[in-house]
Amino acid sequence: MLTLRPNCEHCKKALPNTSTEAMICSYECTYCKSCAIDLFKNVCPSCGGNFEKRPIRPKEEIKINPASNLMIHKPKNKASYEAMIKKFQQIEPKKR
Ligand SMILES: [Zn+2]
Ligand SMILES: [Zn+2]
Repeated sequence: MLTLRPNCEHCKKALPNTSTEAMICSYECTYCKSCAIDLFKNVCPSCGGNFEKRPIRPKEEIKINPASNLMIHKPKNKASYEAMIKKFQQIEPKKR
């Protein structure tokens, strides 16, 4: 089950269960759309994988299976995410 982390790991923007801006990689590194796409160019700065849009969890379901309230805020170092982008940006996700 998806953890539904509460915020963008990089800029700390709130990403509640109903957010349509939350993006995740296969490890559930979670970012807002502007960090994931505009800043990181669809290259996860931790694993080099791509991002997909995180689905919302409906309000009836969130009562039964609440989102995580554990804040993860680890802003990425510019030099290291730029190196990841350089390495993976030109390779389509399924070939990374
Ligand atoms: Zn962000
Ligand atoms: Zn990742």
